[in-house]
Amino acid sequence: MIVTSNKWTERSSNVAKLGCLWIKREEIRMPLQMDIIYLENSGFVVQTAQHTLVFDYYQDTSDTIAKLLQKRKLLHVFSSHSHHDHFNPIISTWQDQVAAFFLSDDIGNVGIRPEKIVWLRPYETSIHGDLKVKAYGSTDLGVSFLVEVDGWRLFHAGDLNWWHWKWDHKYNQVLAQNLFEKEMDKLEGLQLDVAFFPVDSRLEEYRSIGVKEFCSRVNVEQLVAMHTRGERWSPPSGFIPKGSVVASWCPIFSGDRLQLKKAQRAATDF
Ligand SMILES: [Zn+2]
Repeated sequence: MIVTSNKWTERSSNVAKLGCLWIKREEIRMPLQMDIIYLENSGFVVQTAQHTLVFDYYQDTSDTIAKLLQKRKLLHVFSSHSHHDHFNPIISTWQDQVAAFFLSDDIGNVGIRPEKIVWLRPYETSIHGDLKVKAYGSTDLGVSFLVEVDGWRLFHAGDLNWWHWKWDHKYNQVLAQNLFEKEMDKLEGLQLDVAFFPVDSRLEEYRSIGVKEFCSRVNVEQLVAMHTRGERWSPPSGFIPKGSVVASWCPIFSGDRLQLKKAQRAATDF
């Protein structure tokens, strides 16, 4: 038989018997696409083939969420902790169009029907349909999220970072470093398609030390800078994380978008 093939085609060995004919079937796999829309601070919408995820919503001057709700999209909502710049109780008003809320357990119930909430503490895992979530720790409050969905593997750090404040007492600086290194020991070696990570400009010349360490200890295809406090970030000279980061994106305005494509690959275990 004639087989159309392109670089995304993967041949399966499926063989179907039809009457006395053996017909070889080809599974043509399309490239995967992901659309990322920036909201504010650490807030993002991530759209994959079958899912629309919302991370750390606190405000959205681009009306991105309102448009999704209007289109009757079903959302999966993630809130890494209760700080006002990562969480807004208004998310409860979306619940008729939310399949599940994955909430750090420091967030109180804000009127969401209990059956829709998955409370997560660090290192707990939840499987919701074909969406897999594992919470990791934070160096501030709450959790970070590892999510596997529609062939993508992504990590949203929440407020996990090496929070080195240069004006702070040495004791606190060492504590901040130790907390961060301890969490990095747990994340070491992860393979990530996309990682959302804070690069807070208030840390001044120490702004990049956390993300640099993160990218040297996990493998990231696409880095998305967040929690910038308005100041654009690009990898500084010397930011050479094993050569594994192939791209970085730093959105500034609510509604900024990035589209990613990749070949499909098999799902892996957490
Ligand atoms: Zn924060």
